[in-house]
Amino acid sequence: MTAPSVDMHCHLDLYPDPQAQVAAIARRRVYVLSVTTTPRAWRGTVALAAGHSRIKTALGLHPQLAKERKVELGLFDKLLPDARYIGEVGLDGSAEFRSFWSDQVEVFDHILMSCAKAGGRILTLHSRAAATHVLDALERHQGYGVAVLHWFTGTQRELKRAVEMGCWFSVGGAMLRSRNGRTLAAEMPPERVLTETDGPFAIVSGNPLQPGECAGAIRELAQLWQLGEAETQNKIVGSLRELTTIGSNCLIT
Ligand SMILES: [Zn+2]
Repeated sequence: MTAPSVDMHCHLDLYPDPQAQVAAIARRRVYVLSVTTTPRAWRGTVALAAGHSRIKTALGLHPQLAKERKVELGLFDKLLPDARYIGEVGLDGSAEFRSFWSDQVEVFDHILMSCAKAGGRILTLHSRAAATHVLDALERHQGYGVAVLHWFTGTQRELKRAVEMGCWFSVGGAMLRSRNGRTLAAEMPPERVLTETDGPFAIVSGNPLQPGECAGAIRELAQLWQLGEAETQNKIVGSLRELTTIGSNCLIT
């Protein structure tokens, strides 16, 4: 039997029918990290996955919402003891969101500080047009836990720095369709690479990727690593286990 697929970054609560998606995940043997964009969405999104041990829910505050949602940082801290995974968090340096850059930095610094104080967490990170700033912030907050850079689009030099800092990566079908994405993925240490969809935002062939729809990413990674697809899938499941072990070691709670 082939290994389950791993979807390390998926916005389950933002699909038109999240309940139907949960049922489909249960049928398809998929490990899903269900990320949230605001602390207020946490409880409802956790409830969505009740009884489904393969779905984990991450507590997030998306950088694109930093200005309007920074008032929820208090709630973030309150919920943090119950959250083993954090995300989606990070920084977004693209033109559209630069106008509230200082809010983004304030929110991200606060979150990293809280994670460090809480003994560390596993974080799924947004770093669009801001990779250097995200890495700088991680360096400012030692003890935050383990960083998984999702859909990384930085430069080769930024990638090298991230690797040296011990970061992990999650890559999806949409990312691996671009030449730049494939070039970056080739430079990532295979033992620190996981798959993701970033659904429903990531679109492949005109359709949003469904939770756990990682076959395209597996195909590309198999080629890159010169392994068979089943072997690649197994390797990714093994890496997920490794990540959760490292993650639980850094937790004091
Ligand atoms: Zn996302």
